[in-house]
Amino acid sequence: MYGRAAVLEQPGHDVVVREFPVPEPEPGAILVRLTQCNICGSDVHAWRGDFQLKELGGELPTVLGHEMTGEAFRLGSGVATDSLGQPLAPGDRVVFPYFTFCGRCPSCTNGFPIGCRHLRMAMLSGADRFPYFVGGFADYFYLPPAHPIIKIPRDLPETVVAGANCALAQICYGFHRAGLVGGKSLVVQGAGGLGLYATALANARGLAPVIVIDAVTSRLELARAFGADIVVNLRETTPTERRRLVSEATGGLGADFVVDVTGNPAAIPEGLGMLRVGGKYLEIGSINRGQTVPLDPSRIVFGNKTVIGVSLYELFALVEAVQFLIRYGSRYPFAEMTATTFPLERVNEALRLADGRGAPRVALRMP
Ligand SMILES: [Zn+2]
Ligand SMILES: [Zn+2]
Repeated sequence: MYGRAAVLEQPGHDVVVREFPVPEPEPGAILVRLTQCNICGSDVHAWRGDFQLKELGGELPTVLGHEMTGEAFRLGSGVATDSLGQPLAPGDRVVFPYFTFCGRCPSCTNGFPIGCRHLRMAMLSGADRFPYFVGGFADYFYLPPAHPIIKIPRDLPETVVAGANCALAQICYGFHRAGLVGGKSLVVQGAGGLGLYATALANARGLAPVIVIDAVTSRLELARAFGADIVVNLRETTPTERRRLVSEATGGLGADFVVDVTGNPAAIPEGLGMLRVGGKYLEIGSINRGQTVPLDPSRIVFGNKTVIGVSLYELFALVEAVQFLIRYGSRYPFAEMTATTFPLERVNEALRLADGRGAPRVALRMP
């Protein structure tokens, strides 16, 4: 029995769809049959070669893709439940983090697992040996023994749930780290997948106003549908106008929180300038090393501002993401976010479209 995986042999080149033997899971492991994998910004960066997987210990060839969902397909011996203790059987719909922590390094044992020294992550392992299915652009994904997994209700469509294990859980975790609570104001810089999830979560939590900034009109329209109170077009305003707009919308104070999910470091000084005194800046978008930006640090000092960088998440954030989708899955147009879908064999076309930022999330659907 064989399954397909889109293999990245060399960053900067197209991926190649190949067939690999479907692995039999070891004791405690789980083989997931994937049904949807969204293309996240970091997949595009890794494909182009400007996000260096090798710096994270990555091997080539590998399989890109990490924002995914599917069905439990084969359970290794000893697996009877998911991470929440719910019974788990082949055919159950599941989500899972795209990485695991070792559980025994100084970071893991010191209450900060996201700093794990021996992180295992999708897109980092070699695709040329067992278990082959090491990324989401594939028919299967292999969860090694002890990898967390959460069963989801069958009536939660994959178009809604596919973004849970990267973008939405990342936002849930970022909000946790920054202490976002209802009644506070938020500026979202960037209305791609992460920005739209941030907007919906903030809206559902009762943050107000939620102000979303982006350069693409269609994304801003979608942001409105995800609960933005005010949308601002980057192309139609100057930095001074945007800062004044945020000030006016927040009673002259500035925003309590700003989250940057643009991936463009130029957004950072502008966002910091939109914060009120004592405000918190949540940085999630900038993942490419070597990018710099001029910054006047006295604005952070005299403004008593906090900058919080967030990468990866702990499992409770994915549990929150799932609960959020169960409650609000039909309130916000999550399916519209990934309305542009491609079959796996057209993965390069899908990557090119995702690179062009024409759609908030391009998705691969597996039969
Ligand atoms: Zn991602
Ligand atoms: Zn560790």
